[in-house]
Amino acid sequence: MFDWKQDPHRRYNPLSREWVLVSPHRTQRPWQGQVEKTAPPAQPEYDPECYLCPGNSRAGGVRNPNYTTTFVFDNDFAALKPATPLDRFDRDGLLIAETEPGICRVLCFSPKHNLTIANMEVADLRTVVDAWVAQYQELAANPLINYVQIFENRGAMMGASNPHPHCQIWSNHSIPNQIAKEQAAQLAWREEHGACLLCQYLALEESARDRIVEENESWLTLVPFWAVWPFETMVIAKRHVPSIDYLTGAERTGLADILKRTTARYDRLFDVSFPYSMGFHQRPTDGGTHEEWHLHLHFDPPLLRSATVRKFLVGYEMLAMPQRDITPESAAERLRAL
Ligand SMILES: [Zn+2]
Ligand SMILES: [Zn+2]
Ligand SMILES: [Zn+2]
Repeated sequence: MFDWKQDPHRRYNPLSREWVLVSPHRTQRPWQGQVEKTAPPAQPEYDPECYLCPGNSRAGGVRNPNYTTTFVFDNDFAALKPATPLDRFDRDGLLIAETEPGICRVLCFSPKHNLTIANMEVADLRTVVDAWVAQYQELAANPLINYVQIFENRGAMMGASNPHPHCQIWSNHSIPNQIAKEQAAQLAWREEHGACLLCQYLALEESARDRIVEENESWLTLVPFWAVWPFETMVIAKRHVPSIDYLTGAERTGLADILKRTTARYDRLFDVSFPYSMGFHQRPTDGGTHEEWHLHLHFDPPLLRSATVRKFLVGYEMLAMPQRDITPESAAERLRAL
């Protein structure tokens, strides 16, 4: 048996059915690459220049209400538009295009410009979870909408244009690539094994314990065996539910709790407000029951060895396959120790 703490190897991701290259022996090599500027200065509770703060005006002169909890609105620069007519173009099976109707929204977590998930009270985060559920249900009821993607880009390093804590909700007609991939894998697993892929994976990780980072009654955060980003995690519902609208009240509060604890761990890792892309993966809203789907979230943070040194997915990763140096087990151990 090889030593996966030393030997170069590749690991299989059963959700995407793709491989990741792991090169644990490279963690000692000297770093001569880019060093990001140090973290930006602390943000004020209210920023008169912020287009997300209560009472401020947005593009086109729309003024935000003086909201006191969460606030949702249609994106002023939406990537998708609901009135797009359905149409398709196909030239010899080589040039194929389809129109894509959809709705893009922005959800502010709090009126406070500087309040991140890690620093919010669980009760206030529960309000955010309730808003996610309400948005998912409302968009799902629209016959044009077949998938609802809830995601957060946190930090300038991830391209977030505004530090005010918010997420985006893009919902559209077709099933996006990553969702289609995970759906096919979960469906195939269910047919072959007569059980849920993530339920079985969860049971395995609960007995192995070496990749678990956080846990409560209803949720588990772990560094997946096949993680690509150095400190990538998945937050997985302990109960088999296909989507966020199936969560009980206790599970919604549990989600608020584990999100706070997971992001707080991230912040402690390099003593900085940790940048990441985070998002839900769940049942499409195309009318199917989708019992193959097991609700989970992905956290993909870019930082590698400090608040200023990030991982890039370039070169070999862009052209061949993703690669990582520190093992998922040692990443989980470091996150657990904080
Ligand atoms: Zn703001
Ligand atoms: Zn399951
Ligand atoms: Zn997923």
